[in-house]
Formats: sequence, structure tokens, C-alpha cells
Amino acid sequence: MKIYSHENQKLHKPKGYYSRGKMRQPQEMPERLVELLKAPEVMGLKVTDAKEIGIDPILAIHDFGYVDFLKHGYDEWTALGEEMGEEVQTSIYASTNNAGLGILAKAAQYQADGSAPIGKYSWTSIYWSAQTALNAADALLKEEIPQNDIQICLTRPAGHHARKSSAGGFCYLNNAAIIAQHLRQKFQKIAIIDTDMHHGQGIQEIFYDRKDVLYTSVHGSPINFYPVVAGHEHEKGQGEGYGYNINYPMPHGTDEKGFFSYVDKALENVTLFNPDVVVHVLGFDVYKDDPQAKCYVSTQGFMALAKKMKALNKPIIVLVEGGYCIEKLSENLQAFLSGFISE
Ligand SMILES: [Zn+2]
Repeated sequence: MKIYSHENQKLHKPKGYYSRGKMRQPQEMPERLVELLKAPEVMGLKVTDAKEIGIDPILAIHDFGYVDFLKHGYDEWTALGEEMGEEVQTSIYASTNNAGLGILAKAAQYQADGSAPIGKYSWTSIYWSAQTALNAADALLKEEIPQNDIQICLTRPAGHHARKSSAGGFCYLNNAAIIAQHLRQKFQKIAIIDTDMHHGQGIQEIFYDRKDVLYTSVHGSPINFYPVVAGHEHEKGQGEGYGYNINYPMPHGTDEKGFFSYVDKALENVTLFNPDVVVHVLGFDVYKDDPQAKCYVSTQGFMALAKKMKALNKPIIVLVEGGYCIEKLSENLQAFLSGFISE
């Protein structure tokens, strides 16, 4: 097992956002990574500092103008010199029919909702989150790790809500999609299994018409729950991708047994697809006391989840994404990691 992270991921510190009728305190904070990093430390496991792989794999998924906005939007925002807030964030959302003339228009175009503000250091964290994920893909491409090894990427900010050209749901670059595409240089079939509390509509959208990347997700029903407009069972893909997008929306209030019954179905899809590599988007926001939870997974449940993943007997890259019960992140990650280590 190999674990990756990078210190630069702690720099992004969102201040606040407007959602569902009121101002909200951001839950996706640098402290999350501090807590996650305690898990390997307690267990005596080494964490490898991610090295830089570069921008090309990012641009293989995301539009150039969007990446340019993420990287330079803050400078353009502050250069206005007017009474602008400390973060790039507008309340105008117009992704289409918008020529992007001016930073406010670009923000309207490239931010899909209010939960993805861009501050002075956001890009540095966003970029290094993607680089951290790419390190695991690169190790597989270069055969630097044993076959069927498990690689864990402690990534922040998360990625699965990011679309080809828009940020949202605390996400900016779609790390799962970026590494799946990067892995395609060598591997024919990639399966992405997403067990975060929320549906990864960004991943779904990016691979919706493809059959070389399977996306299967277990998540809270999107009815009146983020991402609200995607994640239903009837969304199955299109064209040659039809059937290769498989959603399991859970009714809100699903218990742990129910969660695992959906996970087992998703894993059956992965087994049937017989991928060369499995990418697991792991969210600790399914944890019973998480402020985002609509189901009730226990700490021990994460160990069970890891054992199920390990039983696939494939090369697995885990991207740690959601999880906002900060005081339990270390304990829950320890439980998950121990599921891979134990026989
Ligand atoms: Zn989530």
C-alpha cells in the first residue's frame, strides 16, 4: 500500500458561501487534511510527498479557458480594484450564451454554484490535489508498484463534482476523471466506483458517452440533496456509453446494511466490467455523524468497505474526497486503511 499527499493542499481556505437560502460556514477546510494525515502517522505508515506530473493530464479533461480561470481568476478579480470581496464568487450563473468578457462573466460561466469560491491560494491547492492523484496513476503507468497494489491519495479539494468547464460542490478539478484518462494511455478499461455521500455528477457527465470508463455510484438520493439535478437511476449513459453509467441513489435515512447492499451491487458491476484499474472515490461523509450524511455508516463500516475493495483483486487507486465530521476523519481513515492491511 502506498499513500500520497502534498502540503500545498492545505492552502485553500474558503471563507463562506451562500446556499439554500442562507450564508453557510464552509465545511471543506484545511483542517480536514491535517486530521486525515494523523491516520497513517498513528499507524506508522509512510506518506509519500506527491511530485509534480504537470498540467497536460488536467487539460486532457478540462477546457483551457476554465483552467486559465482557476489559475488566474483571482488576480483578475483583485485587479478590478473596486470593492471586490476576497474570493472570486458571483451570484450570477450563466454557463451558456456567455462570452466570458470580464472576470464577473467568467465567474458566471465557470462556477456552477456558490460553493466553489477562489481565493488567493486556491489554485495552488487545486493543482496539487490533482498532482497528488496523478502520482498514483503515474506509478501504475511506470510499473513502479507491485501488481494489484493499493494506492491511497489524500486529496483536497475534492473533485467528483467538477465538470469539464465548471466548479461546484467544493470541487474544481475532477481528479478521478483526470487520472482515469491518464491511465488510458496504457490500460484499456477503467472502473470508477464512487461511494461518497453525494453523486459525482462531474464524472458522470465527462464519461457519459464512453464505454471504456465505467462509472458506478452509491449516494444519497439527489432529490433535494446535492447535486440535486443528477444522480438518478434512469441516467445510464448515452451512445456507446449507454449502460456504462450506473447509479444507486439511496433513500435518505438508509442504514449501514442498506448502504452495503448498494455497494455490493456497484461492486458486481465492477467485477462484470473486469477493469484493468479501479478508481475508488471515497467519501467519509457517509459516516453516521457527518453533517452531510443521509445514511449511517459506522467507523467499522469503513474497514468492511476496504475489505470489499481489496477483494476485487485489482490495482486500486483510492481518492479520499468528502468527509466533514472533522474530529472523526483520522479514526475513520484508520479503520479504512486497516481493512486493506488485515488478512
Ligand atoms: Zn460528498
